[in-house]
Amino acid sequence: MVGRDEIKTESVVGRFAPSPTGPLHRGSLLAAVGSFLQARSQSGRWLLRIEDLDPPREQPGSAQLIIDTLRAFALDWDGEVVWQSSRHAVYAQALEQLLAANQAFACACSRRDLQGSGVHHEPCVRSLTPGTKHAVRMRAGDAHIAVDDRIQGRFEQDLQREVGDVVLRRRDGLYAYQLAVVVDDAAQGITDVVRGADLLDSTPRQIALQQLLALPTPRYAHLPVLVDASGQKLSKSRFSPALRPDQACTELHRVLRLLGQPEVEGQTPSALLAAAVAAFDPDSIPRVLQIAE
Ligand code: GLU
Repeated sequence: MVGRDEIKTESVVGRFAPSPTGPLHRGSLLAAVGSFLQARSQSGRWLLRIEDLDPPREQPGSAQLIIDTLRAFALDWDGEVVWQSSRHAVYAQALEQLLAANQAFACACSRRDLQGSGVHHEPCVRSLTPGTKHAVRMRAGDAHIAVDDRIQGRFEQDLQREVGDVVLRRRDGLYAYQLAVVVDDAAQGITDVVRGADLLDSTPRQIALQQLLALPTPRYAHLPVLVDASGQKLSKSRFSPALRPDQACTELHRVLRLLGQPEVEGQTPSALLAAAVAAFDPDSIPRVLQIAE
């Protein structure tokens, strides 16, 4: 069993990690297809993780809608769906590890406390008594992190100056995306993160966190984000139109074109994607942060 897993770690593993804040729209389809093509074109595995960490932002039923739409579009993933809501114990363990190593700290500051103190505010202005509501933050330290993104090129960030002490668990007790994504990408053995360029800015803090937790850093490729005619990012929470399963081939053709991919034929979503995988040309993906629909 162990031997088999070890063999797999050498091959490509990609993932799609939507938050269930609304149905799948064309912008998230573009991210799903980009990541799918990248993994499948190298005979890699492609996993699905539902990032249901933030119930107040979620829309009931949207996780199932996303799953059904991916199926209708023949974006077939390997293995079981991973639900972040079932992984709180693992995030708690990572947090404990960071706190014990003094790489994270409890912070009871309110937004008002932090006003004017910049992004880096230690020591905390409030004393922590048992029961005080508090966030847990990562110590930014003096890490200067660079990522060689496969699409966007080199991206650098001075964490302390530009980002500050990243929240890992919020005051309301919810685990932050930044912690969960790092823990889960490592737990799932992800070798290649392919996602929207709106997350490029989050990548250095994720790499810093990987380093603190002694986890491997995957390769990153940030796809252009799809914007509407007014230049606004399509997003689930802004009620961008949901994809229609009966339009799957048309929609797939459209995102393949937006990704700069060669024209391919196929009567069904599955045939179309198989042809797109065979013809996949990563160098043709536009090296820009945004593209218009
Ligand atoms: N859950 C995030 C989103 O839906 C994506 C996270 C990721 O790909 O790292 O925007």
